[in-house]
Amino acid sequence: MPSIAEKIKELHNQLPAGVSLVAVSKYHPVEQLQEAYSAGQRLFGESHAQELVVKAPAMPADVQWHFIGHLQRNKVRAIMPIVTMIHSVDSIRLLNTIEKEAQRIGREVDVLLQLHVAQEEAKSGFGIDELILLAREGAFQTYEHVRFRGLMAMATFTDDTSVIEAEFASVAETFSTLREEWHFPLETFTEISMGMSDDWPLAVEKGATLVRIGTDIFGPRQY
Ligand SMILES: *Cc1c(COP(=O)(O)O)cnc(C)c1O
Repeated sequence: MPSIAEKIKELHNQLPAGVSLVAVSKYHPVEQLQEAYSAGQRLFGESHAQELVVKAPAMPADVQWHFIGHLQRNKVRAIMPIVTMIHSVDSIRLLNTIEKEAQRIGREVDVLLQLHVAQEEAKSGFGIDELILLAREGAFQTYEHVRFRGLMAMATFTDDTSVIEAEFASVAETFSTLREEWHFPLETFTEISMGMSDDWPLAVEKGATLVRIGTDIFGPRQY
C-alpha cells in the first residue's frame, strides 16, 4: 500500500495541467489530512458540516475547504466562514440561503450548480432542462454574494463505463450550453467538478477541472 503522501504526489503527477485535486477527507482523522498537507495538498473536500467545523481549525490556515456533500439550509451559517467553494448547490432555496449568509458576514462565495445525471434517484441536483431553463430566465442574475463557477455532478454507481462516460459527456455538453446562454462574465464560469476514485480518468477525458478523490488517497473511510 502506498502512503498517503505517495498517493498525493502520484495524483499530482497524473493530473493534467488545469485539473485540480480535491482530497476528499470525510471520515478521515486530522492526522491523515496533515500527511496529505505535508505532501503539498492544500485543497480538501468535506461533506458534513459538523465534521468540517471541527477539522478546519485543526489544520493550517492556508487549506482551502470545499463543501461537496448534500447541504442542509440550516448548516449554511456554520460552514460559511470556512469554505471557499460549495460544490453541491442543488436548489434555488439553498442558493437563497447561501446568498443571505454570505451577505450577513460580508463575503462572496464560489458555488457550483449540481447537475443530476445519475440513474439513482437518491442523488440530488438540478435536472439538465431545469437548469438551462433557469439560466435562460435569468434566475442566477440576482445574487450579489454568490459567484457561479461551474457545474458539479456524480455519475451512476456502476461498472458499466459506457454509462459513466455518457453521463460525464452530458455534463460537459450542459456546461457548454450554459456558457452560451449565461448572462454573466464567462471568465468565472469555468469549472466542472466530476470524477471520484473509480472514475476520475474518464471524467478528466470529458473535461473535468476538479476531481474529488477520497478512497484512492486515504483508503477506506473510518465510519
Ligand atoms: C465521498 C465523496 C467523494 C469521494 O469518493 P471516493 O470514491 O472515496 O473517491 C467524491 N464526491 C462526493 C460528493 C463524495 O461525497
